[in-house]
Amino acid sequence: MSTIAFIGLGQMGKPMASNLIKKGHSLTVYDVNKTAIAEVQALGAKSSTSPKDAVKDCEFIITMLPNGKLVEEVIFGQNGVIHTIRKDGLIIDMSTIHPLESDNLRNKLTMQNIEFMDAPVGRTSDNAVVGTLLILAGGTSEQIKRASPILRCMGSEIINAGGPGQGIRVKLINNFMSIALNALSAEAATLCEALGLPLDVAINVMKGTPAIKSHFTTTWTNKVLKNDLTPAFMIDLAHKDLGIATDVANQLHVPLLMGAAAREMYSQARAMGRGKQDWTAILEQARMNSGLKNN
Ligand code: NAD
Repeated sequence: MSTIAFIGLGQMGKPMASNLIKKGHSLTVYDVNKTAIAEVQALGAKSSTSPKDAVKDCEFIITMLPNGKLVEEVIFGQNGVIHTIRKDGLIIDMSTIHPLESDNLRNKLTMQNIEFMDAPVGRTSDNAVVGTLLILAGGTSEQIKRASPILRCMGSEIINAGGPGQGIRVKLINNFMSIALNALSAEAATLCEALGLPLDVAINVMKGTPAIKSHFTTTWTNKVLKNDLTPAFMIDLAHKDLGIATDVANQLHVPLLMGAAAREMYSQARAMGRGKQDWTAILEQARMNSGLKNN
């Protein structure tokens, strides 16, 4: 059994704290919302009046807050964790915050010999309720080992993201990909509807192609990721097909914001002389645009 201070009892924090209590840990909880504190107190937690009050004598301090500014305030503010934390206390920030803010918090805490790790979560509040969150642990291997027994009370999958700060980074990439894909998917479904094509037919086809299977795990594996840009499917042809799609959409009055941006990226790749390269060379174009590659 561990002693844990849990700060931030919202849609995610409340069920996560409840699961820790159910598994026998001793919790002291804090939230600016007194009703939230009372609800978790009814399940067996001790209440507190501030972050400073909550963390006394706790081995672990978990923060589950809306943004980085609030995490900073809870840790370093006038009534912050920093004033009463045990020397061997480990702060685990499970919020989704800006990675550079997270780095800044870790650096400031390290200067005071206080341990901090990032462990943001994937999935939703439904998973928080049943304890099946995906936990992306960024920390030293010692910190992850130490935190694992309590992380396992909240999640069914704990990923060691590879070091301090890497949990929040992999969370950012995952969110970027799935949120942007959501918008692209909406454009594809809208074009489908305007074309009079049933969505289930389109989904059935796309399930067997990179459209749904993803490029990372299909087209890229034996091509661009192995530095082989000989064409299985050329940039020129991808550009032509995307041009047909945007033209048809235009005639049907369907705006394709993401589609048009993608078409321009292929246009740019062609302008850079990549027309006869494999379509996975679009990665090399993106890296060049970012100064990560020269040509
Ligand atoms: P929420 O808004 O429901 O809860 C945040 C809680 O923090 C609230 O109870 C609020 O009163 C409390 N709070 C705000 N300022 C505070 C302070 N200064 N001191 C103490 N408590 C304070 O948010 P949520 O949905 O629980 O999300 C929490 C974090 O988890 C966010 O960073 C979010 O991006 C991330 N997240 C959410 C989901 C989801 O499905 N909701 C999924 C994955 C990750």
